[in-house]
Amino acid sequence: MIKHLHALVSYGLKHHLIDFDDITYAVNQLAYKMNLDPKPFVDQDIDGLSIVDIVEPLLDYAVKINLIDDTIDAKDNFESYLMDTLTPRPSDLQKRFNSLNPKEATNYFYQMCQDNHYIKTERIKKNKHFNYPSIYGNIDITINISKPEKDPKTIAQLKMHKSSSYPSCLLCIENVGYYGNLDHPGRSHHRVISMPLNQEPFYFQYSPYVYYNEHAIVLHKDHIPMEISRKTFIRLFDFVNHFPHYFLGSNAGLPIVGGSILDHEHYQGGSANFPIEKAKVFKTFIKNEVKLELLVWPLSVIRLSSKNLNQLIDVADNLRIYFENYSDESIDLLAKTNESHNAITPIARFNNGMYILDMALRNNRTSEKYPDGIFHPHKDVHAIKKENIGLIEVMGLAILPGRLVKDLEAIEKILNHQETSLKGLEQYKNWMETIEINPMRNMKENIEYAVGKAFVKGLEECGIFKQDDIGRSKFIQFVEGFLK
Ligand SMILES: [Zn+2]
Repeated sequence: MIKHLHALVSYGLKHHLIDFDDITYAVNQLAYKMNLDPKPFVDQDIDGLSIVDIVEPLLDYAVKINLIDDTIDAKDNFESYLMDTLTPRPSDLQKRFNSLNPKEATNYFYQMCQDNHYIKTERIKKNKHFNYPSIYGNIDITINISKPEKDPKTIAQLKMHKSSSYPSCLLCIENVGYYGNLDHPGRSHHRVISMPLNQEPFYFQYSPYVYYNEHAIVLHKDHIPMEISRKTFIRLFDFVNHFPHYFLGSNAGLPIVGGSILDHEHYQGGSANFPIEKAKVFKTFIKNEVKLELLVWPLSVIRLSSKNLNQLIDVADNLRIYFENYSDESIDLLAKTNESHNAITPIARFNNGMYILDMALRNNRTSEKYPDGIFHPHKDVHAIKKENIGLIEVMGLAILPGRLVKDLEAIEKILNHQETSLKGLEQYKNWMETIEINPMRNMKENIEYAVGKAFVKGLEECGIFKQDDIGRSKFIQFVEGFLK
């Protein structure tokens, strides 16, 4: 087994996670963690071996000697504990990051997060991707299976487990170096970079689930709720100014139209292009040095662009306030009942010397007819998408639930008459009837087409001003009212 341990140290050296001066330290630390007698390091030939090939024998051995339980969760936690030995200390990483130019710094940090297996590339590769050619342009669809579902054994153990409030959530800074427990993933090897925005304390990290290239998360030092205000726009552009090769956006701060974590102020960014960037424009307005464009897009999005950042932030924040108080009963838009319903999903970018801010208008009111939300995917598309539409999906990248992989395969068999039983697929029954069989496509493609169609319909249902003549004229009326 010591050979396997040495192989892990060889891996650390090869990927520059550690230096030659760290070898003995790493061997001794890892040997103790593995309950093995350390032996002087012998460099191992690891050519062609992935981190999984190298670390798996060690995890199996840890199970065998009863060091850990035989569950995915226990193995993941223990693996991150081993990999921590090969991961730079937070302060060393910070120094290294700060010494590089912005592009080199993000490249280095992102590579390190993959090399130390915080980002599990081999699991992410299992995600399914396809395209849907919508009237708004190509929409990217991902079925996400990289987030492992809980091991049934862990679920059973959880019944006996006393949950803890430390760390308060999955984003909190207290996750850095945290071993993890039954209901909290192991983050021993997790690292963040301190990065003040608007002179306020923020941290920068990568998402372990990587929905798109260099999927980054920027989080506040404190566990404070999401809130969109003038400060949000300033922070987003403070970041984009420093990392012009990244975008940064925020989810709205309200339930239904917000992201999955509302109680910790955070943003999402990365180095990726999204379908919304290619959206056509159906109306343009100018306010001083700021251009306002209304997009041909399923959601109601106003694109602000300017070389003058101060003016752009002024327009953005005034528009936010104007919208937060804007109602139009003829389209079911009520800004306030007992609570506020209107909110903005803002996404900031820097492109060809221009500051760009996409502002998606959102409303989270529910009604008797639409108990999940009037401007939320309606019941008929819930088989495909019922979760909140967050900023990534606003930009035209669908993140669909992992169950679809297996279920769509089963549906394909039914449509190909290889199977007749709908058992377990009841929720898809109505949606299946909408699948159009185009003989130019094979069955799998026909199903994917129908998935894309349902997703886009869900996005359209989130649109405040619909993309028809009436909706567009109401959208124009809204902006004209604002500019008056
Ligand atoms: Zn938190």
